[in-house]
Amino acid sequence: MNYLSKICRTTQPYMAGEQPQDKKYVKLNTNENPYPPCNGVAEYIKNFDSARLKLYPDSDNKALAAKIAKKHGLSIENVFIGNGSDEVLAMCFPTFFDKDGDGVAYCDITYSFYKVWAKAYEIPSVIIPLADDFKFDVSEFKQSKCQGMIICNPNAPTGLIVNRLDLISIIEANPEKLIIIDEAYADFCNCSMANYVSKYPNLLIVRTFSKSYSLAGARCGYAIGDETLIRGLKTMKNAFNSYTVNSLTEGIAIKALEDVKYFSSVVDNVIATRDEYADELRKLGFDVLPSSANFLFATHETKPASEIYYQLKEKGVLVRHFNLPRIDNWLRITVGSPDEMKVLLDRLRAIVNA
Ligand SMILES: *Cc1c(COP(=O)(O)O)cnc(C)c1O
Repeated sequence: MNYLSKICRTTQPYMAGEQPQDKKYVKLNTNENPYPPCNGVAEYIKNFDSARLKLYPDSDNKALAAKIAKKHGLSIENVFIGNGSDEVLAMCFPTFFDKDGDGVAYCDITYSFYKVWAKAYEIPSVIIPLADDFKFDVSEFKQSKCQGMIICNPNAPTGLIVNRLDLISIIEANPEKLIIIDEAYADFCNCSMANYVSKYPNLLIVRTFSKSYSLAGARCGYAIGDETLIRGLKTMKNAFNSYTVNSLTEGIAIKALEDVKYFSSVVDNVIATRDEYADELRKLGFDVLPSSANFLFATHETKPASEIYYQLKEKGVLVRHFNLPRIDNWLRITVGSPDEMKVLLDRLRAIVNA
């Protein structure tokens, strides 16, 4: 007897980057931030009254929602908070897309979770290929037949961006479609479209504390958009699990938002290291796409990416290699601390010069 549903039996889950325990690696494979969260977070955890855990958290996380609203010049009715932006994005599928609708459009090379969610919720996918140089096809998105679309900007794993005017032209050309922008990496390029949420009722921005705020382990992400969109997300959330964000995490995220100075310095450091090591990789014979994120996407002129991946792993450095069409000769390398990047460069030099 097979007790699993048909959908479960046929679902291909998302494959996250490995988190191996066999030895200590220089870990540059899942786009985590190399710097710790701000001191305010450490203080908050130290002083957290564990008795608070006997109570449920506020199901709308209003204290955090107020902070997020303030940051973006919105009100709390424009904010939806979830257990990581993965949960927020997952919730978008049943909230905004129909099984028998025109489907959700996204790029062929982008965050691979979109396809997993579309399948899990049985929503049709409209796949729009990137150009040969991985550039985004604005006109295809403008005219595609779909119920809505998800644009990852900057895109993962390429690190390339769609410029603001192109995004606006897509949003304005499609007032009847929902445009979701996944801004997991937008803090690393100052290219957020958050300011346009109050202007366009068909724009939903999804953001996370995992990357630029160094809080991947705390699990917190959010969406901002028109009240009606947010109300829809809350309806679906409350049909699934009312308490997705725990009270400790809520307080942690508030503290992280308060220390604007530390946040900027972390982001600036990551950007400086990124740009420095993009050049170093180019000197070793890599073609490196101009990155607007906290990772580099690179291919070597002679050495196959899979070989570099395995040899780096043997030498204690983990990067991400996707065994997928069009990008199987590329590596995605998270920008680590300068010390980690020195180790990476040293190991890469030995591999490509061998
Ligand atoms: C990391 C990432 C997310 C998910 O982050 P959470 O940790 O779930 O907040 C979402 N989208 C993209 C493109 C990402 O790279």
